[in-house]
Amino acid sequence: MNKLQKPIFEKSRKGKIGYSFSPTEFSDDLITIDKKKLREEIKDFPQVSEVEIVRHYTNLAQLNHSVDSGFYPLGSCTMKYNPKINEKIANFEEFSTHPYSPHKFVEGNLEIITTFEEWLKKITAMAAFTLTPSAGAHGEITGMMIIKKYLSSKGDPRKIILIPDSAHGTNPASAHFAGYETKEIPSNEDGIIEIETLKEYLNKDVAALMMTNPNTLGIFEKNICKTSEILHKNGSLLYMDGANMNAFMGIVRPGDLGVDVMHLNLHKTFSTPHGGGGPGSGPVGVAPYLVELLPVPYVYKKGNNYFIKYHGEKSIGRIKNFYGNFLVIVRALAYLMSIGKEYIRKVAEDAVLNANYIRKSLEPLLELPYKSKTLHEVIFSDKNLNVTTLDIAKSLLDYGIHPFTIYFPTIVHGAMMIEPTETESKETIDEFIDAMKKILEKAKTDPEYIKNTPYTTPVSRLDEVLAARKHVLKWEKSSE
Ligand SMILES: *Cc1c(COP(=O)(O)O)cnc(C)c1O
Repeated sequence: MNKLQKPIFEKSRKGKIGYSFSPTEFSDDLITIDKKKLREEIKDFPQVSEVEIVRHYTNLAQLNHSVDSGFYPLGSCTMKYNPKINEKIANFEEFSTHPYSPHKFVEGNLEIITTFEEWLKKITAMAAFTLTPSAGAHGEITGMMIIKKYLSSKGDPRKIILIPDSAHGTNPASAHFAGYETKEIPSNEDGIIEIETLKEYLNKDVAALMMTNPNTLGIFEKNICKTSEILHKNGSLLYMDGANMNAFMGIVRPGDLGVDVMHLNLHKTFSTPHGGGGPGSGPVGVAPYLVELLPVPYVYKKGNNYFIKYHGEKSIGRIKNFYGNFLVIVRALAYLMSIGKEYIRKVAEDAVLNANYIRKSLEPLLELPYKSKTLHEVIFSDKNLNVTTLDIAKSLLDYGIHPFTIYFPTIVHGAMMIEPTETESKETIDEFIDAMKKILEKAKTDPEYIKNTPYTTPVSRLDEVLAARKHVLKWEKSSE
């Protein structure tokens, strides 16, 4: 990273150009654009050479941390490595088909969609999946709409969705946008939902409980089967936020636990690129009695051919144009096929092993608010430290490590939510642990040093509130 890199506008010198064409190939009389349609002058456009512009963009790109450049233990986000073979396959020319192509011409693509759905069905024991939602949150709202339509078609519309206090913020937002009221349920001292507490909150107005499993404390909701039973007795449904499926895919299947509706995040568990805003994919799986409510279009196989269902009497309708982010599905299928079905379980086992290795290594130094078994991520608090979680996160930047998720889940004071994933080597994890030890040691002897980190980035501490409220998205001429 080059801290001294000047903004490209300040490098501009009148008359410099970044291209040169031979006059015989592109002579003036070839340019036939009507002069009136041409802009006369572009003001303040930087005039630079080709190498300067290449360096400008290369340096900008290097300012971003990515999973290709370093460790990225961002809790709840499953920032695993995205194998390059997925990219290679998604880039096959054969896949660059137009979404309006007649389905007869793209049966190969349709086969990919149904094949991937079959994999998801095997992994989750759900009866069918829609692959159209383009994010986890989009999957959640799709799931809520399915639940809503199902209950109202039974003549039993209900108003409330119960959500644990450890849930991801998207859960209440999705329920709200689907037209529900949400009610928060507290988790117990083990970090999970207690059956007795659930009973207190349950009544005939409860449409569903949205349970994240394992939850955002990295803990398995071991009462899930009983929870499902009690909900069903009450005429309510169980929605499972499956964003954390990396913790137990190949080991436990939500469909076997009594889950009615769930979503998965292909950009987390299934290794498709993540960060920078997408594109993502949040397939939604349902129990057999809800299959007809899935959104259209729905791709299916009959005999040896593939078809698309565009209408369904009971379907909630369309939630996105076309069939979802098709090339994300291609990548996720490439991932599953390249690791093979025997290895799926190992992915989860290694993810859990790595998180527990971090837990054991840092437990002597940091407060662990919930002592229950750790699955794919471990959550510490900043209790008893003389620096804050934010200070530690900023210090990690000086080690070239992306900070873990901070201050979430909100039920933990100064939460540090660390999710290493299975794709990291022991050496990388040891480097992280070592960095954490050094930071915590320094915090004892010289807290001011830690409070002023980072020292190696182009800007150090930002006024984060101001940065979020007042976006400065373009270069402005400095006044000197
Ligand atoms: C990431 C995540 C979501 C939301 O998924 P997006 O794809 O970011 O919309 C929901 N719940 C949990 C637990 C998550 O980790």
